[in-house]
Amino acid sequence: MQAPLARVGVLGGTFDPIHHGHLAAASEVCAQLGLDQILLTPAYSQPFKQGYDTETPEHRLAMCALAADEDERFAVSPVDIERGGVTYTVDTLTDLREQRPDAELFFITGADAVARLDEWKDADRLTELATFVGVTRPGHSLADTTRPHILVEAPALAISSTDVRRRVRAGLPIRYLVPRSVADYIAVNGLYYGGLDD
Ligand code: ATP
Ligand code: MG
Repeated sequence: MQAPLARVGVLGGTFDPIHHGHLAAASEVCAQLGLDQILLTPAYSQPFKQGYDTETPEHRLAMCALAADEDERFAVSPVDIERGGVTYTVDTLTDLREQRPDAELFFITGADAVARLDEWKDADRLTELATFVGVTRPGHSLADTTRPHILVEAPALAISSTDVRRRVRAGLPIRYLVPRSVADYIAVNGLYYGGLDD
């Protein structure tokens, strides 16, 4: 008899840096949909963020790994960083399907991202590769898209990476907004002090 497929959630993002909004949303989806694992997939370069400066892929990946270390349900996949170039979700999911033929994939996006799903590369193929899951995010409504997706209400945490970067630059605390290990990593490596783009 064939083993049942593992149910794997995939959370893509720039993660510049990863914060508790990402982690709480993914954790809630994991519980509500009975997923076996959540894969964090940091983008090499986000199509909607061309022209913006980001921290290096190595730093963003390292911070995701520190966050994932604290929860046995979470793991990090460097699939997008290793491929390089502009990161399109259709490539992420195609590569993950190859690496994990044992898995049924659920692609998790916040309300802001789900609203733009129709603009994504190969939008039609995306829903064949994974089930799309939209999670609530403060300040954004889970707008109707024509794409079929599951909607999950996650505890609202009004945290964004943009705000975390601004706070570091302004000398304000980021503790409790990001995992402690991530806050330490940012301090030790002097990330964001110099002022990346918002
Ligand atoms: P930035 O401000 O730099 O755009 P961000 O906080 O939006 O950063 P991303 O890396 O762009 O983080 O987001 C990755 C994914 O996580 C997206 O699908 C986004 O909608 C979702 N997300 C980010 N923050 C939250 C949050 N606080 N609650 C729910 N989902 C979130
Ligand atoms: Mg964003």
